[in-house]
Amino acid sequence: MRFQLWRAKNGIESTGGFGILMAVTESGGSMADFTNRYSDNVPGKFYVDDQCIDCDLCRETAPDNFTRNEDGGYSFVYKQPTSADEEALCKEAMEGCPVEAIGPDGAQVGIAAPTQPSPQPQT
Ligand code: SF4
Repeated sequence: MRFQLWRAKNGIESTGGFGILMAVTESGGSMADFTNRYSDNVPGKFYVDDQCIDCDLCRETAPDNFTRNEDGGYSFVYKQPTSADEEALCKEAMEGCPVEAIGPDGAQVGIAAPTQPSPQPQT
């Protein structure tokens, strides 16, 4: 389904050359994993992990937040969203990513649980 949406958005009529992509997509993929994120991502809510297949959808959808690592051939988040509009576009990019390589949990991962204050001695 996601692949069909991506193809429609990008005006792709033929499936030639996309066999591998379709196989990945039809297997259901897996959710982005914060531990596998590219180091280029700026810290924050959204990130791209190493499942990215460099399809360009996120860069077209949210160009103010996603860009391409030219040497590596993948996308990463170069700026976290700073407005409701940017947030919505990042979410749209995440939902449209054909291999679920975009994660939304970067702001929560790694934050330690608050510690309880030590009991104070009675005087
Ligand atoms: S993160 Fe997803 S949408 Fe963006 S280029 Fe990679 S595969 Fe495409």
